[in-house]
Amino acid sequence: MFYLLSILLGSSFGSFLNVCRYRIPRNESIIYPSSFCRECLSEIKWYFNIPVISWIWLKGNCYYCKANINVSYLFIEILTPILFVLNLYSFPIFSNYFLLNLVGIDILTLYFLLIAFIDFSTYKIPNIIILTGSITGLSFTIISKLISPFDNALIGFIFNLLSGLLGFILLESIVFLVALIINKNAFGMGDSKYLFLIGSWIGFKGMVMSFVLAIFIGGIITLLLLLISKIRRGQKIPFGPYLSLGGYLVCFYGEEFWISVIRKISLYS
Ligand SMILES: [Zn+2]
Repeated sequence: MFYLLSILLGSSFGSFLNVCRYRIPRNESIIYPSSFCRECLSEIKWYFNIPVISWIWLKGNCYYCKANINVSYLFIEILTPILFVLNLYSFPIFSNYFLLNLVGIDILTLYFLLIAFIDFSTYKIPNIIILTGSITGLSFTIISKLISPFDNALIGFIFNLLSGLLGFILLESIVFLVALIINKNAFGMGDSKYLFLIGSWIGFKGMVMSFVLAIFIGGIITLLLLLISKIRRGQKIPFGPYLSLGGYLVCFYGEEFWISVIRKISLYS
């Protein structure tokens, strides 16, 4: 039951993410008009708008003008349901109540994906996404703490709010100091705002852990890409996708897991 629901919801939300990913950076409404082809402007009928199936059926082309639809659209529609199914096995990062925790990690997964894809293609994280994502995170914190008998909703809210603010200020300070030394911005302002969003959902420790993982994974991948000459030295690299990945790994395994991993690594080295 949960599998089927996760797959259905995941592919539908994946399809919606595609709309958001295209329209939000262009300042267009995500509700109106309904989906249409960007080449021939024909409205896409609902039976050509079924996630994954339609894309494969039409072989990635518009039904009317045969314009090519980027394969990354299919990728999101497949990736989202896979992550939704994985989330069924997630660490209880938000709550010990299974369903409540699942709702939380599913919503946050959508933000992780949206920000990763938009930052990857535009090098920007739109403020409207940071704003709605953080408000959703803080609201969810209040709701999940209200339901739990052991937590205080107000303390949880203030803690996550301050965590986010601290994350923002810390990264901005690092950027400022690095800029003083090498006269170059290591991170964009969007990354600091993104830390605020992550902190508003999972608090200080989780936020810092997400950042550490992002630096670690991003560093290795960038090094590999430099070695095989896929990127040039000094080329702009979006950090948002790595923060998304780091944040997701922290949510999925729990921050304590990663803290013990780092402790082990530092013991052996
Ligand atoms: Zn078309």
